[in-house]
Amino acid sequence: MTTDPILFADAEASFSDARFVIFGGPFDGTVSHRAGTKDAPAAIRRESYNFETYLYEYDIELTTIAVHDAGDLSFLPETRAALDAICQFTKKIAAENKFPIMLGGEHSLSVGALKGLMEGISDTKSKPPVGVVVLDAHLDYRNEYENERFSHACSARRLAELVGIKNIVTIGVRSMSGEERKDALKHGLKFYDMNTVAEMGMKLILEDVRDLIEPARIYLSMDMDAFDPAFAPGVGNPEPFGLTPVHVRECIEQLAPHLAGFDIMETSPPYDNGNTAALAARFVRNVIGLVGSK
Ligand code: MN
Ligand code: MN
Repeated sequence: MTTDPILFADAEASFSDARFVIFGGPFDGTVSHRAGTKDAPAAIRRESYNFETYLYEYDIELTTIAVHDAGDLSFLPETRAALDAICQFTKKIAAENKFPIMLGGEHSLSVGALKGLMEGISDTKSKPPVGVVVLDAHLDYRNEYENERFSHACSARRLAELVGIKNIVTIGVRSMSGEERKDALKHGLKFYDMNTVAEMGMKLILEDVRDLIEPARIYLSMDMDAFDPAFAPGVGNPEPFGLTPVHVRECIEQLAPHLAGFDIMETSPPYDNGNTAALAARFVRNVIGLVGSK
């Protein structure tokens, strides 16, 4: 594999000048169905050039915000080594008060980024709590999958272990095993399934978890299969009855004042018509605009 040299659109600042640091995690070592997420960072960067530098709905010009694209992290095809490399790099970003944005890669990588964020923040003088919001079709709450604790099918469980079960919420769920459901109820994992999203709407859900979100710096972990496959067909494990891009846009608008880090995972270019990577790129741009204009 050659590395695609294209950088994310408008990410022209140096590391030291940047407020946002984008990096790719081209890794799909534990995928359970369709492979291909390792090619996603390059595909998302290419699609980022589809969009205007001006975010019309917010009246924000993205070229006024300092963004650095560090390219893809290179690592061995071994899960723990990949997680460690991501942790170290994210820690460096957070320790310099910058905002990390990871382009996945499979969802298992999020735990490395969250760990790095927490360690990086704790290097500074205050020690604020970190909360996690996950958007995902899947509960990802298996303790292990195919003998791998760091499988992408276990990502929410590992994230919950890092921040504590009361400090994480998953929205958009519509698939889980019976055992995951039992464990989630037993442990008190808060999640909102798609039926609840349809009934309550995103705004009321986020009000419902205000106690989690407002006192914390929030890490937003977005699995692209949270979207309905009509909007995001290029994912490893597509699930019908999903979120719309408007749901997610509203979610990010509400979360933006609290966000400390973001990842966008599980785009699978071999199964994409281009729209999944484009949607991912657009949400990276919305996060940069909404967080960066404050
Ligand atoms: Mn996931
Ligand atoms: Mn998923």
